[in-house]
This record gives sequence, structure tokens and C-alpha cells, in this order.
Amino acid sequence: MKPAPFVHHAPRTVDEATSVLADVGHDGKVLAGGQSLVPMLNMRLATPAHLVDLDRVAGLDGVEVTADHVRVGALVRHADLERHEQAYAALPLLRQALRHVAHPVIRNRGTTVGSIAHADAAGEMPSVLALCDGVVEVASATGAREIPWHDFFLGPLETSLAPEELAVAVRFGRLPAGTGTAFVERARRHGDYALAGVGAAVTVADGTVTRARLTFVSVTDVPTVLDVTGPFAGREQSSVDWSGAAELVAAAVTPEGDIHATAEYRRMLAVELSRIALAEAAARSAAPGSGRGAA
Ligand SMILES: Cc1cc2nc3c(=O)[nH]c(=O)nc-3n(C[C@H](O)[C@H](O)[C@H](O)COP(=O)(O)OP(=O)(O)OC[C@H]3O[C@@H](n4cnc5c(N)ncnc54)[C@H](O)[C@@H]3O)c2cc1C
Repeated sequence: MKPAPFVHHAPRTVDEATSVLADVGHDGKVLAGGQSLVPMLNMRLATPAHLVDLDRVAGLDGVEVTADHVRVGALVRHADLERHEQAYAALPLLRQALRHVAHPVIRNRGTTVGSIAHADAAGEMPSVLALCDGVVEVASATGAREIPWHDFFLGPLETSLAPEELAVAVRFGRLPAGTGTAFVERARRHGDYALAGVGAAVTVADGTVTRARLTFVSVTDVPTVLDVTGPFAGREQSSVDWSGAAELVAAAVTPEGDIHATAEYRRMLAVELSRIALAEAAARSAAPGSGRGAA
């Protein structure tokens, strides 16, 4: 199918973009990489009268690494962030997760901020934002605001962005020293949306576990962070049996079944992938500086 007719806007600045968004309100949609929106337009699942194309907007293509966060602009493609060495050194979880996002050709166009704005429960980057206690930076014609991840995601494909608002960047918070991370998932083919996926962050100080947290893909409706530190706190990292998290995970998640997997299979995957992700993250926590490892 072909999209319904729309007016294409090509602003050059954030002010021009937000001014168009303010004028067109509910009739407008932001176009970033188009890897989710264009198929929806083609199938007429979305029929906006106005598209505000970010491609020419100046100042949205930067990745900034500070002592506190990795800030990613709205035009940064998944592939750019995946290859960004400073971002990887600061937050290995980004690359660990991005290598599961679709296929390289889609990562070359799709943006990380667009993926977060799209808020698909099967998307990796919304969950990474949650695990990193991230923030979405928003601009509109009337000002700017910041939305913490837990107030941003309202439901599947639903966020607290108003129609006249543009997400200009996201900030992924850096994890404490001694934190190792991992992202593991199962898909029918590499690059397909995951049947289930799990991200883990384990912090170790003086050889003992101080914090262990999980996040999920295709398992929960909205990005969720599950703190499983309890049974492991103070234990020697090298001797922990992470299958002890199974009950906590099984009790915390109630996945949906669909044509790809039953709810029960997804729950089983979530439990098993949690054990694997926690063990990988814990092993990497031993490396000085963070969770670097095979990304
Ligand atoms: C075959 C295929 C497989 C895929 N597999 C995966 C996968 O395994 N994992 C995964 O995570 N993703 C997957 N994707 C989606 C991909 O990651 C998309 O790039 C991403 O979801 C959307 O990013 P985008 O830049 O393309 O946004 P677009 O498609 O341009 O926009 C998506 C939505 O977000 C809104 N939006 C975008 N940017 C902004 C902004 N800055 N401010 C406000 N609103 C904004 C748009 O209005 C639209 O509603 C897949 C896509 C395809 C086509």
C-alpha cells in the first residue's frame, strides 16, 4: 500500500520543528529514521496530515559522554551509537544491546531516540534507558522539559510526549564503578524482534555483590527494572549461583502470549535469560572500569 497524502515539512532548526508541531498538533508526526513510522504509513496504520522530518535539523546528531551520562541526540542512528568508542567505554550496555536491534541496514537509518519515542515493548533501547535510569530531553514551542524514564513510558507504543513535543535527546545514566552489564535474548533469527530479552547490571565492591538489577524486552508492557539484589547482597561474586533469581523473576513478570510464543514460554525464557545475563554481567564486573566484555 501507499501512505495517505501528507504535507512534508523539512525544518532546519529545533525552533522551526517545534513551531510546525505546535501549529499542526494532533495532525502531525515526527519522522526520524522512518524504520517504524514508514511501514505504519504504508499500511495506513498511521495517517498523519503533516510529517515533520528531522533529517535536516541542525544540532541533533551528537553523542556526548560526561562523567554522569551518555547523551544521544535525536538524529544519532543506532549504528553510530553502536560504533561510538567513547560511549562504549562509558556504558558498554549500549553496544551490548544495540547489536540485537534489527539488522545493520535498519540500524543505519533508525535512530536510538526514535526507538525510545516509539516505545515498542519489543525494542531494546527503551529497556536500556530504564536500566540506566535515563531521562528524555524534550523541546516544544513553549519551552523545554526533562522526563525521567519511569514517567515517559505509559504503555505499549504510548509515551507522555505531547503531540507538539519533540524529543531532542536522551541521557543514559552511567552505572556505578564496579558494575558489569550484559544483554541476552532469544529470537527466531538474529535481528528479528526478540521472543524475550534481558538486560542485567551487577555491581561488585571488594569482591562482593552490592547491587543486581534486570530489565526485559518482549516480556513486560513497558520498560521495567527489577531489583534482585536481596538474596545476593554481600555474597562473593565468584561463588554466586544466579539461578537463585528465578523465583523473583517469575513472580515479577506476566508476559503476553502471541503468534510467536506462548506466555508460559516467554516466562520460562525470561527466567533462564535472567540467570545467563546476571552471570555474564557479574563476570564482567570484575574488569576494572565497568562491564566491558565481548559486546
Ligand atoms: C524489519 C525491522 C526489524 C526491526 N527490529 C527491531 C528490533 O529487533 N529491535 C528494535 O528495537 N527495533 C527494531 N526495529 C525498529 C527500529 O529500531 C526503528 O529504527 C525504531 O523503532 C524507530 O526509530 P526511527 O528513528 O526509525 O523512528 P521513526 O520510524 O521515524 O519514528 C517512530 C515513532 O517515533 C516518533 N519519533 C521518532 N523520533 C522522535 C523524536 N525525536 N521526537 C518525538 N517523536 C519521535 C515518530 O513520530 C514515530 O511515531 C525494526 C524495524 C524494522 C523495519
